Amino acid sequence: MHEMSLMQSVLEIVEEASRGFTKVKKVFLEIGALSGVDPQAMDFCFDVVMRDTLAEGATLEIIRKPGEGWCMQCSKRVDVSERYDPCPWCGSYQIQVTGGEEMRVKEIEVE
Ligand SMILES: [Zn+2]
Repeated sequence: MHEMSLMQSVLEIVEEASRGFTKVKKVFLEIGALSGVDPQAMDFCFDVVMRDTLAEGATLEIIRKPGEGWCMQCSKRVDVSERYDPCPWCGSYQIQVTGGEEMRVKEIEVE
């Protein structure tokens, strides 16, 4: 499951950011709709990976970010719910994805 290794890198970021604190209470994770990351799997991995760390027992808040693209035919911004979807306006497949591909730790709450 590749979410497991993704969560390992989330842990590294969280540990780095919480240095000097005693406890991590909440982790806000932004997941783009086109990132290929399954939020449910991340939720599951979170508890496993955070065990025996500062973030043990912390809450994971997942913020889902919609996909965004640019249609070259219409020359406008379009919503992309799935990669390789056609443009909702003109049906063209010439869409450049401009957002929603990333997964990042947005914020953490510490004590
Ligand atoms: Zn279009």
